[in-house]
Amino acid sequence: MCVFCDIAAGKIPAQKVYEDENYLAFRDINPKAPVHILIIPKKHIEYLSDIDNSNKGTVADMAVIANKIAKKLGIDKSGYRVVINNGPDSGQEVFHLHMHLLGGKRMSFTT
Ligand code: AMP
Ligand code: ZN
Repeated sequence: MCVFCDIAAGKIPAQKVYEDENYLAFRDINPKAPVHILIIPKKHIEYLSDIDNSNKGTVADMAVIANKIAKKLGIDKSGYRVVINNGPDSGQEVFHLHMHLLGGKRMSFTT
């Protein structure tokens, strides 16, 4: 279906840092920070904009997982950034909902 579905199905290898029945987290292949993890639902959802009242728990679960991973990787005190890209102007490249977890350095881009 897509590259992240293939990772979730174990067809493409990934450096996993977290897994449960419904979610998976693994290291970004092209890290933008010392810690750069992608958190995905195993179920294929293309966009953040596909999130509505029926599935909004997915994003909350992903935030909880991001916090757990930040603690496990020791960036909970130094801080971290989570990013979800949605659509062309965001630069979204993989059309399977994912949350970036970035940390381990001071972020240069401020909003
Ligand atoms: P986005 O621009 O939000 O769609 O981000 C997609 C991210 O997926 C990029 O940071 C890529 O480096 C990353 N990526 C693409 N393919 C893989 C892969 N096979 N394993 C790990 N990360 C990947
Ligand atoms: Zn997918």
